[in-house]
Amino acid sequence: MKIVGLTGGIGSGKTTVIKMFAALGVPVYIADIEAKKLMNSSPIIREKLIKLLGNEAYQNDKLNRKFVADKIFNNKNLLEGVNAIIHPEVGLHFDKWREQQTSDYVIKEAAILFENGSYKNCDVVILVTAPEEVRIARVMKRDGVTKSQVEARIKNQWPDSKKRELADIVIENIDLEDTQNLVNDIHIYLS
Ligand code: ATP
Repeated sequence: MKIVGLTGGIGSGKTTVIKMFAALGVPVYIADIEAKKLMNSSPIIREKLIKLLGNEAYQNDKLNRKFVADKIFNNKNLLEGVNAIIHPEVGLHFDKWREQQTSDYVIKEAAILFENGSYKNCDVVILVTAPEEVRIARVMKRDGVTKSQVEARIKNQWPDSKKRELADIVIENIDLEDTQNLVNDIHIYLS
């Protein structure tokens, strides 16, 4: 079974593309969603986050999202510390999930697949891209945020030029029909 990593910058259309693969019957693992769930359910993550951030990191057995977000906002060391706690647990959870799948390939979607190095555990890496001005316009419309807010989020991610060098397949997600056709072709190639 091949492990296919799928990534892309904010507003590139990762979720849109992953839904196309899922509709073709491909098992998909959305790392951000699973990470959020694990932050509430994993005793190991809880213990380490409390050690790093203090008891207030959890409230009534649930992650205190606001407290954690405030703590890591503009604090690169703490952000890296939090990622270093969560990332290995997501990796283990993904491995267990994958063992239960029986398809030719599975897809792991992660916004920071390159940034956190987990692309190294993938057999194939797909990068979803779109011109920056298109991505900004999409996110402004989807999230009701300003241009500079989107630009700030883009600045925290690797530039597409760097990601392209490491990707095996690039999906230029501009026209939805073109994207769907490409996804169909990639599915045949990977099956
Ligand atoms: P994020 O990193 O913020 O989670 P994402 O990469 O998952 O974003 P999507 O949520 O899939 O991106 O797409 C961003 C927005 O752009 C959504 O509202 C989506 O419907 C829209 N969109 C995606 N692809 C296209 C396209 N080819 N044409 C028009 N709109 C699109």
